[in-house]
Amino acid sequence: MTERLVVVGGDAAGMAAASQARRRRGVDDLEIVAFERGHFTSYSACGIPYWISGLVQERDALIARDPATFRDDFAIDVRLRTEVTGIDLDRREVTARRLDDGGEVRERFDTLVYATGSVPNQPDWADGDVEGIFGIQTLDDAAALRAWLDADPTPTRAVVVGGGYIGVEMAEALIQRGLAVTLVERAEQPMATVDEDMAGLVAEAMRGLGVEIRTGVTVSGVEQRDGRVSAVVTSAGPVPADVVVLGLGVRPNTALAAAAGLPLGASGGVRVDRRMRVPGVPGVWAAGDCVETLHRVTGMSVHIPLGTHANKQGRVAGINIGGGYATFPGVIGTAVTKVCDLEVGRTGLRERDATAAGFEFVSVIAESTNRAGYYPGAQSMTVKLIAERPTGRLLGAQIVGRSEAAKRIDALAVALWNEMTVDEMTALDLGYAPPYAPVWDPVLIAARKAVDALGR
Ligand SMILES: Cc1cc2nc3c(=O)[nH]c(=O)nc-3n(C[C@H](O)[C@H](O)[C@H](O)COP(=O)(O)OP(=O)(O)OC[C@H]3O[C@@H](n4cnc5c(N)ncnc54)[C@H](O)[C@@H]3O)c2cc1C
Repeated sequence: MTERLVVVGGDAAGMAAASQARRRRGVDDLEIVAFERGHFTSYSACGIPYWISGLVQERDALIARDPATFRDDFAIDVRLRTEVTGIDLDRREVTARRLDDGGEVRERFDTLVYATGSVPNQPDWADGDVEGIFGIQTLDDAAALRAWLDADPTPTRAVVVGGGYIGVEMAEALIQRGLAVTLVERAEQPMATVDEDMAGLVAEAMRGLGVEIRTGVTVSGVEQRDGRVSAVVTSAGPVPADVVVLGLGVRPNTALAAAAGLPLGASGGVRVDRRMRVPGVPGVWAAGDCVETLHRVTGMSVHIPLGTHANKQGRVAGINIGGGYATFPGVIGTAVTKVCDLEVGRTGLRERDATAAGFEFVSVIAESTNRAGYYPGAQSMTVKLIAERPTGRLLGAQIVGRSEAAKRIDALAVALWNEMTVDEMTALDLGYAPPYAPVWDPVLIAARKAVDALGR
């Protein structure tokens, strides 16, 4: 009998797994059914802020492959608007509900890929029926927000609740659409993915764009007029709003997994081994935002929900299901974000992570420029390095600057991945020409400063 693979979740991780499995196994050998409760498959959630801002004009530009492509080119049977409601490991069967007509579906599986993504944190006050409050997790969410922004009366005042990278990107998107934007954040700085000193630079740049930032403020509810949101109630008083965007972080979407008895780790994500198998549950794989993964610097299991990991993990699962051999070696927390012309990059540990992991360390901040100082367009760049004391091993790096800042983090990520010391990094053979870097690249300047701080 033909083996049947069932995929739960039709975006990055799930469809990467399905297509990799198909590349290695023909239709007579492997039947593939993918369930997706939304309206879209394989879309770029990462592109949502740029569609909301209008920079990307067509919603469909964010869709890499639609169900027809999966059916025609990959022989994958995608069932859209169908939500898996139960996984029975003994019967090897999933139960699903068709969201448009309420019909129930049962599907047998030999192999299962669990790729349900993450669930946005939703405060109680956003659960009511006040209109104009939006999460921003899926393309369906984004479509609902776009419709609200385009409708009459056109919103003019937006409040973004939560200053993580998604909140920051959404604040930029709404400013670009011409709204007055207030970002409310409970912590002392937005952009908690970098240390506070670096986040301060981001906040300053956002204020320069016209975003009003209120930090150290909590939101307790909303006010409404005729069923539409009119203000956000905060510990510092009400903030008028015609639209509210939530960016309060996410957690792994594991309700179904837990109910089925799949093992969850301390971070809350599904546990997987390095081949993306769920340990102790033969034939079941998991990938993407719903799993926890190894942090290569601390050795801890972490939940770092990023598209870059979801695609790689899905691919690894699919190669293995297809009969190949692939492993996912863990993450170091590399991420980049743009806030208008400001670029932010980070990799490895922040100071607080290094402290929590028990490292002794030094941290340095180096100011330099993206190009030779005399070359037109030279702009300042701030690089922070965190290095273990006394070994000098690079533990973390952050960059805030303008053009060419964000992707410089990749050189630091490679150094960190390979456990280089800052001493070794000072000799790195990085490219130099005046349009691209000063003769001492900002990365090298920061490494030299870290070596000095270590007292070498
Ligand atoms: C606004 C925004 C910007 C982002 N920007 C970046 C970025 O710049 N860089 C980066 O690396 N990452 C970014 N991310 C994160 C990235 O989008 C996610 O990490 C990635 O989409 C995770 O892929 P996934 O397949 O694991 O989960 P998802 O993309 O969440 O897909 C899971 C799918 O499963 C479906 N599903 C869930 N439960 C069920 C069920 N029971 N039955 C059927 N279907 C179900 C969901 O509808 C969803 O489509 C961003 C995310 C957002 C929201």
